[in-house]
Amino acid sequence: MKITDILAKSTKTYPSLEIVPPLRGMTKNELLESIAPFMEFSPKYINVTSHRDEFEYKEEADGTFSRHLVRNRISETTVCAAIMSRYNIEVVPHLICGGNTVEEIQSRLDNLAFLGINNIVALRGDSMTGEKRFAPTPGGYRYASELVEGIRNYQGSSSYRRSRGLETDERYFCIGVGAYPEKHFEAPNLETDIANLKKKVDAGSDYIITQMFFDNQVYYDFVEKCRAAGIAVPIIPGLKPISTFKQISVLPEAFSLDIPLELTQELTKFKDDRNAVYQIGTEWCTQQCKDLIAHGVPAVHFYTMGKSENITNILKECF
Ligand code: FAD
Repeated sequence: MKITDILAKSTKTYPSLEIVPPLRGMTKNELLESIAPFMEFSPKYINVTSHRDEFEYKEEADGTFSRHLVRNRISETTVCAAIMSRYNIEVVPHLICGGNTVEEIQSRLDNLAFLGINNIVALRGDSMTGEKRFAPTPGGYRYASELVEGIRNYQGSSSYRRSRGLETDERYFCIGVGAYPEKHFEAPNLETDIANLKKKVDAGSDYIITQMFFDNQVYYDFVEKCRAAGIAVPIIPGLKPISTFKQISVLPEAFSLDIPLELTQELTKFKDDRNAVYQIGTEWCTQQCKDLIAHGVPAVHFYTMGKSENITNILKECF
């Protein structure tokens, strides 16, 4: 089922979960066991992130270094297939511009359609480790809006549509995109970033998932600005509970966001007590989630980042 249909049919807020594909070496069973605790909550779908190849530097006998591309993680499509083989649940693979030519994207779409997957989150992706700015892959897309348009156009090809038995005006893929309530770090201001977000919606994306935030007012203000800018599609809020003290500096740096003073002060009081920090982070996220539900958001998206205990505790409290 498409996420748009799930959103349209839902009468109350539901949890949405995002996982990161495992590093090479993990087995299928280990992966499936790691997400088993979520299944108790009958999630409607699971998002699987996508990761581009990384450079690895190898020292040669003459003391110089050579650069090699390595794929450290299992592909999102493989992880989706593994999840579908065990659990009766929709999967939503992420698809990124970085590292893919247009033809490679089309091949990925074919693989997804082959598996019966018709939901995608389309993203640009970040720069590679060691590179300052995102550089588009030669023959690939520069922005997520181009990727969305590319997916829509590819569906437009008559042979592709015929092979899937689609009616002329029916779209095969339901497309989600990302958004940043505290502004994408490269955008000069929030208004320009929202104008760029609108380009993704105009290109054919069906709904939006936000970057994590720790102050719900930031999300409510963002939604209001998006609506004023003419963005009408659902905007699903994204949450992540803080689980270690280090994250109060790591998360703002990695995701260009603010941690509210009240939360920072509370975490700082207990910075040497790992359990207390974990509890404070979980409780803060629980309160955020309850408030979002009270405001009638369609779904709450959780960035699980390979951890299940704090998320399942929040799900127990809220859903
Ligand atoms: P875009 O929408 O292309 O925007 C990137 C920047 O370019 C923004 O500053 C925007 O304002 C600007 N821009 C956009 N269009 C134009 C234009 N036409 N002209 C000028 N400027 C423009 N990363 C991964 O690698 N894998 C994942 O699986 C993944 N999942 C994510 C899931 C969610 C819900 C979110 C919010 C992010 C995710 N990311 C993921 C991170 C994402 O790839 C990065 O944040 C990336 O830097 C931006 O991606 P985007 O799709 O938002 O880019």
